[in-house]
Amino acid sequence: TLVLGIETSCDETAAAVVENGQRLLSNVISSQVDVHRKFGGVVPEVASRRHVERITQIIQEALDRAGVTLDDLSAVAVTQGPGLVGALLIGVSAAKALSFARGIPLVPVHHIAGHIYASHLVEPLSFPLVALVVSGGHTELILMREHNRFERLGRTRDDAAGEAYDKVARLLHLPYPGGPEIDRLAKEGRDVLDFPRAWLEPDSFDFSFSGLKSAVINYLHNARQRGETINPADVAASFQESVIEVLVEKAMRAVAHTGVKQLVLAGGVSANSRLREVLDARCRETGITLRVPPLSLCTDNAAMIAAAGTYRFFDGQLGDLSLNAEPNLPLV
Ligand code: ATP
Ligand code: MG
Ligand code: FE
Repeated sequence: TLVLGIETSCDETAAAVVENGQRLLSNVISSQVDVHRKFGGVVPEVASRRHVERITQIIQEALDRAGVTLDDLSAVAVTQGPGLVGALLIGVSAAKALSFARGIPLVPVHHIAGHIYASHLVEPLSFPLVALVVSGGHTELILMREHNRFERLGRTRDDAAGEAYDKVARLLHLPYPGGPEIDRLAKEGRDVLDFPRAWLEPDSFDFSFSGLKSAVINYLHNARQRGETINPADVAASFQESVIEVLVEKAMRAVAHTGVKQLVLAGGVSANSRLREVLDARCRETGITLRVPPLSLCTDNAAMIAAAGTYRFFDGQLGDLSLNAEPNLPLV
């Protein structure tokens, strides 16, 4: 089974070819980060335009590097949502065009399902598992008992973890995207500022990061008013510890609550070095197998979409030419 994956939900134009849902034959990513950095964030219109300019060439490159042609493909999998509607539309249109022109089955994929399957490209996922999804737009705990079936245990009630990283980075005048910048800066600081941890109700697997963001804003404002020197590294470290303590604690509780033995970290924030370190330590202590995607597959890519799409293809969950981009597509 050879599946071409296409991903254009945000600011990466990506295409990849995956064999049997698992073996990466090619993985081409064209990032627009340099374009959007000037604006301090992704500008949707600019992203769409870039996708249009690049998509055909990126798909061809993915096929070439894999050494396959369109005739070899079993299916074309594409991110249907969630994401920026204009950006998603480019990938969906390209996939529909290929499907129509060559009679290749079309498979719509949820972007977050893709993030979870990134680890599957390294070693097969085994079920049941709990996935901690931490990305620019999502913070969720997902239970999977088998391929292609998702149950939500909890989600953020306001900001996503990655969004909080990016916003706090902006407050510290760090370049976009802020997550990797905070990761780096935090290594030079200490958790001395005592920012809040949002535990919510004792049995809740939900998250909340907007209070933490406000606490950072208030701290910076008050310190500036009082003329105190601000140590950005301490702000970064204190913010990061607050985020990670809650993420890790809730993930471990979800694992204990469901009795699963495997925890899968997924989404762009899974690139965070401190999160990986703390989760690794906790999972070792408790005998849980931790699955962390390689850095190259943490942020948006099409290989993960092809992998997740392969199992939807096996389940016969196909799309047709009426397929539309869904900016708010639900996972469950
Ligand atoms: P979603 O997947 O929810 O639709 P997205 O696709 O925009 O959102 P991803 O590409 O999965 O998000 O991840 C990007 C996010 O990951 C950004 O918020 C970025 O700051 C964050 N991120 C990337 N690397 C790190 C890091 N080392 N530490 C913390 N955050 C990071
Ligand atoms: Mg991105
Ligand atoms: Fe993503």
